[in-house]
Amino acid sequence: MPTQRTNLYGMTRAELAQAVSLLGERPVHVRKIWRSLYVDGVTDFAQMETIPTALRTKLSETFEIAGSTVAQEMHSSDGLTRKYALKLADGRLIETVLMRYKGRTTVCLSSQAGCAMGCVFCATGQGGFGRNLEAGEIVAQAMLVNQVLRETSMTGTARLAETSSPSAHRRHERLRNVVLMGMGEPLQNYDTVMRAMDILRDEAGLALAAQRISVSTVGVIPGIIRLADEARPIQLAVSLHAATQEERAALVPVAKKWPLADLMEACRYYTQKLERRIFFEWALIKGANDTPTQARAVGNLLRGIEAQVNLIPLNPTTGYSGAPTDDTAARAFQAVLMDEFKIPVTIRERRGVDIGAGCGQLAGAKK
Ligand code: SAH
Ligand code: SF4
Repeated sequence: MPTQRTNLYGMTRAELAQAVSLLGERPVHVRKIWRSLYVDGVTDFAQMETIPTALRTKLSETFEIAGSTVAQEMHSSDGLTRKYALKLADGRLIETVLMRYKGRTTVCLSSQAGCAMGCVFCATGQGGFGRNLEAGEIVAQAMLVNQVLRETSMTGTARLAETSSPSAHRRHERLRNVVLMGMGEPLQNYDTVMRAMDILRDEAGLALAAQRISVSTVGVIPGIIRLADEARPIQLAVSLHAATQEERAALVPVAKKWPLADLMEACRYYTQKLERRIFFEWALIKGANDTPTQARAVGNLLRGIEAQVNLIPLNPTTGYSGAPTDDTAARAFQAVLMDEFKIPVTIRERRGVDIGAGCGQLAGAKK
């Protein structure tokens, strides 16, 4: 049986340097390997033209470049959103979404196959937990999207790049924004997610800016405290959905473990320690959490916290009977928070709804 090779996508540059040194090779090659992986988008050792053939052979004996295997690809009717169902080595499926609007290219990454948190309205939650993803599996999702951007220019309808010359590669549209809002609860896979983000941020490679990386949590308090204590420079989004413990626990079962009052205390600690705002997400569900009274309750709850609220009209899922709030009620909810509480509020455009690609509601995903 062949021995299992280590996925290069899961390694930090420091670890790669160590491995190169163990192979008896000079450190000068490390940056070249890293560059060919993350800047040139090489997926095969044979294509690493900047390093000696003998080293390529040695590398291929110990390592692999395990990219994503696309099981299914869907494009939204406006051409601006693409959803990829990816098959992992063990057969499990995860999903990655590429969104392009208002000049921003964003990838929505999964952090787990499935999710154990059980939020009643969420397709992933309805499917239960599979397993944590490995860092290489998270990085590979970003690299797939980067490759798609390299090959196409998604201006409404996909257009193939006119040339594949190296200079064209340098000009290709780059991946700039990452949100961990796909399948899974990223703070339940904390170390791996942070490792993957460190790899994507490495200045010799994809060089993503930390402030363009957002991690969204259902409210895993120990993870929020850790982000604050480690002074992680990435953005934090907290999925709130309700402003009382009782209402929240009905939508988000883990609120019983991490109660709302404690969650708000953790959020206060985070914003004060890092002097950074938190984004609060609120899935607007008709008749459940969308009244002006409930908007006032959120406003009061968020007093003293540097906050922005993102309202997401519910994407209906098969396992939940709730419906999205209509536009008028959504705008009224927004107006209460903005006018009475001076909190910035956005209403998320329902991009890609026709392909079930609302971030965090990755329908059709099987474990
Ligand atoms: N587990 C993390 C990140 C993934 S979910 C979290 O819960 O924050 C990403 C976002 O999509 C969360 O705010 C989640 O509440 C929201 N979401 C999930 N299902 C949804 C649905 N059916 N409609 C609207 N938003 C949904
Ligand atoms: Fe998990 Fe987030 Fe879905 Fe809740 S909303 S079940 S935490 S993925």
